[in-house]
Amino acid sequence: MSTSEETQRLQRIVLQRLESLQRAGVLQLPKAAAIELPAAEPVQEAAAQQPASHPVATHPAPPPVAEPTSPRQHETAKSASLAEGTVEKLSAKKPAQNVRLAARRDALAVIQQEVAGCTMCDELVENRTQTVFGVGNPQARLCFFGEAPGADEDRAGEPFVGRAGKLLNDILSKGMGLTREEVYILNVLKCRPPGNRNPAPDEVGHCRHFFERQLETIQPEFICCLGAIAAQTLLETTTAVGRLRGQIHDYKGIKVVVTYHPAYLLRNPSAKSETWKDIKILLEGMGLPVPKRS
Ligand code: SF4
Repeated sequence: MSTSEETQRLQRIVLQRLESLQRAGVLQLPKAAAIELPAAEPVQEAAAQQPASHPVATHPAPPPVAEPTSPRQHETAKSASLAEGTVEKLSAKKPAQNVRLAARRDALAVIQQEVAGCTMCDELVENRTQTVFGVGNPQARLCFFGEAPGADEDRAGEPFVGRAGKLLNDILSKGMGLTREEVYILNVLKCRPPGNRNPAPDEVGHCRHFFERQLETIQPEFICCLGAIAAQTLLETTTAVGRLRGQIHDYKGIKVVVTYHPAYLLRNPSAKSETWKDIKILLEGMGLPVPKRS
């Protein structure tokens, strides 16, 4: 798909969501930078400019932002901060990349606003501190897909923080040579199940369209499912994680690798060697160097 076609597709998504929000009575959205449409002349496909040896888009860390005054503002500010910082750093020589990033960021902001106002799951709404949308690069080649926020994530408004998040960071940095800012991290559910119980089937059904639209907007090439709930939900199967591992699956044309959830690895450190095998499948599939493991 050319950049101009993708821009039009994302614009359609944004318009549809704006109309949906308006119908739902939402009249105000988080402030976002204006999208400058490309000139009538077709823009150069940005991806073609990237050498094959650097398949993961790398962007610098976001600049500091004004202190948010509420958890929900904090959640929105983090996403906006990353995207805006990345947009600023992108050279004016890359207008197509700039437009694409802004369009994806705006499409995600619309979905995030819907999530923040969602009241579909009574028990989760009663118990949540805030919704936990997702974090990372809107143009990531790789998404990490987990289960649901835990207590730390519910407090922070960001997926995979706390001990499990630290382990995921280690897998990224030490195992893959990547940072959180280079990938995108999201969960099946956007609200914490009380007591960290498993998501109920009806909750997954309510929340499915949110993660599907996040993935449709980001268009990653790879998804790494962390744990049984994420893998079985995405692949719509009841097969156990142990049998889903070790191969590449397909989700709407996106390559999917399944591994254990970091929280499981904290409880079962001996399974880390199995996760390393899965990460190697991912690295090889992405054409990234496989570091020697000490
Ligand atoms: S878990 Fe998802 S569907 Fe349920 S209330 Fe939260 S955002 Fe809405």
